[in-house]
Amino acid sequence: MVERQLIAAAQGGGLRLKRGELLRIIDPEGGQSGDLLAFAQDGSERLSNGRTFDYVGKIYVSTGDVLWSDRSNPMLTIVDDQVGRHDFLYSPCSLEMYRLQYGVTGHHANCTDNLSAALRGLGIQFDSLPTAFNFFMNVEVAVDGRLTVAAPRSRAGDSILLRAEMDLAIALSACPASTCNGGAPPRPLAYEVLSV
Ligand SMILES: [Zn+2]
Repeated sequence: MVERQLIAAAQGGGLRLKRGELLRIIDPEGGQSGDLLAFAQDGSERLSNGRTFDYVGKIYVSTGDVLWSDRSNPMLTIVDDQVGRHDFLYSPCSLEMYRLQYGVTGHHANCTDNLSAALRGLGIQFDSLPTAFNFFMNVEVAVDGRLTVAAPRSRAGDSILLRAEMDLAIALSACPASTCNGGAPPRPLAYEVLSV
């Protein structure tokens, strides 16, 4: 029996993966995007979108592609992808972003806080967060380079399956930004860890 863990709407969570273990991230209701950060178990390496672009040669990653660390080591391989569109360009949403872009004055749930808390809970030290792997987030890149955020393509129950290529500390966040989620209010995500 594989135990399914829930990431509550607009919340985050942390977990550890041993090399070779599989992480399935599920969108239970559909149309919900999230953020994933990966650090080496001891915090010495972290996920890098730039290095990933170096080695996979494209900004849209899917089945068979490897997500690389800032020290040029494979961190995660996408083993199965039922959605086929993810973003690896945008920074995690933050309180400052909601203030600057949307005029939010009070508190707003955000992925930067969620991911930071999850990493602290795993004992990972960091000054700032790298760009997250924004699974299920659907960003269109026009020929002139302009970016448009569209609704996620994930339907209820869709998932992405990732294999750990080293021992990892993983932080996840169910993104509360309605612009990234087809204008809908925040919904939960779920994950399962599968040992092989
Ligand atoms: Zn977010």
